[in-house]
Amino acid sequence: MSTWSPRLTPEDVSELPVLWEGDVIVVGGGSAGSAAAVAAGRQGASTLVVERFGYLGGTGASVLDTFYGFYAPGPNNERVVGGVAWEVAQRLLDNGDAFERPNTYGAGTGVTYEPDRLRMLWDDLVRGAGADALLNTPVTRVVMDGTTVVGLVVETGQGPGLLAARAVVDASGDAEVAWRAGAALERPLPGRRLQPLTATFRMMGVEVGRTSTAELHQAMRVAAEAGDYRLPRREGSVHRTVLEGVVHTNLTRISGIDPTDPFELSAAEREGRLQIAEYARFLVDRVPGYEHSTIVSTSDRIGVRESRRLLGRYVLTRDDVMSARDAWDAVARCGAPLEDHDGGEATVWEYIGGAKPSGDTYGIPYRCLLPVDIDGLLVAGRCLSATHDAHASVRSMAQCMAMGQAAGTAAAMGVRAEVQPGDLDVDQLRTQLTKDGVIL
Ligand SMILES: Cc1cc2nc3c(=O)[nH]c(=O)nc-3n(C[C@H](O)[C@H](O)[C@H](O)COP(=O)(O)OP(=O)(O)OC[C@H]3O[C@@H](n4cnc5c(N)ncnc54)[C@H](O)[C@@H]3O)c2cc1C
Repeated sequence: MSTWSPRLTPEDVSELPVLWEGDVIVVGGGSAGSAAAVAAGRQGASTLVVERFGYLGGTGASVLDTFYGFYAPGPNNERVVGGVAWEVAQRLLDNGDAFERPNTYGAGTGVTYEPDRLRMLWDDLVRGAGADALLNTPVTRVVMDGTTVVGLVVETGQGPGLLAARAVVDASGDAEVAWRAGAALERPLPGRRLQPLTATFRMMGVEVGRTSTAELHQAMRVAAEAGDYRLPRREGSVHRTVLEGVVHTNLTRISGIDPTDPFELSAAEREGRLQIAEYARFLVDRVPGYEHSTIVSTSDRIGVRESRRLLGRYVLTRDDVMSARDAWDAVARCGAPLEDHDGGEATVWEYIGGAKPSGDTYGIPYRCLLPVDIDGLLVAGRCLSATHDAHASVRSMAQCMAMGQAAGTAAAMGVRAEVQPGDLDVDQLRTQLTKDGVIL
């Protein structure tokens, strides 16, 4: 029996049906992947985004409802992300499907939106850019010609099929393509600290605003310390949404899980639902304004903050973040603090440059999107090349969309110039991104 490998050669797949062939394939239709598809399509590249679920938007459309990272927390509340990402936020705001929640501390001002409207908007933007989407289709293997990615195998209702492209963007969150291609990676190892997972839920029938956040946190502490409720996290966010009487929560916490281990992930999904039931019971019993409320929806899948990442040509570090370091090849900016959810019952914030939000930002280098040893491939989004600490700052959705725009633009420009992503003229890439509204 031959040894199973996630990597195949062009000869291995010669008998598979070719389902699509073109310039750029984006794997994963989350914040990074959808933005990458829009950018590559607008550059004139024939582009396909492949997503294992039935909608675009990823974690942002299934677990969450607030974009962070657009504004750097600090006295000036400056917007530091533009381009496709801001176009998304602006369209949602203009249509009444979003509102801003001003904040000069914490993660800064957030843009709270309706997740279902975000799914529709990504459909529209991807279509408008001339890109195509293959939904409900997981990528299972990578086709390599030597050290170059030249195609992907997908599993469909009609069996396996081949997708061929001249450049691939891995925006899978878990570095699925980079891992299968054999790129150098930072893996979740037993005992290594990883950010915990969170299942989110929404409650309807709430008298929003009757209880302040401080009062809610106090009620949690009292209830948990008395042993009346099992509440692993005694703070967290419950906030209003676009819908009247509906709140979105980010409360549950499941720690010590390797999200790439299928049994651990399954256990986390079930534990997430147990915690949701417990937090909802607590809210209804103990918090003024929730007496007549009920759960209206839960996250489609558990939210994964951190898993496998690329070890790329550059690894973004805590020092880069804390010293607001710029980079000669910056393709996006970030002003978000280090946000560590693994600090016990509360979330720990560390601001760029010191104790207080300063409004300072750092540059996200293009090299963080490039594998060291594999051609034909870029990564974007939360699987970029960064240490655990730096990742705790750079992973917000505005930055993921900005990285996606950079990777999609670079992939298309590389195909046009017939050069590998790693050999692209970075000044030309930055000039193009600036023309397209990206803030550098
Ligand atoms: C609980 C939680 C709360 C958070 N809160 C916030 C917040 O309030 N604001 C904020 O800005 N950020 C927040 N973040 C961070 C942010 O949501 C993520 O870092 C960001 O959404 C990641 O975007 P992405 O595009 O890299 O990945 P994702 O959005 O996860 O997209 C990856 C996509 O790839 C697809 N995929 C994976 N493997 C395959 C495959 N083999 N084949 C095909 N498709 C595949 C997945 O289905 C998914 O759609 C939070 C994260 C979590 C988990």
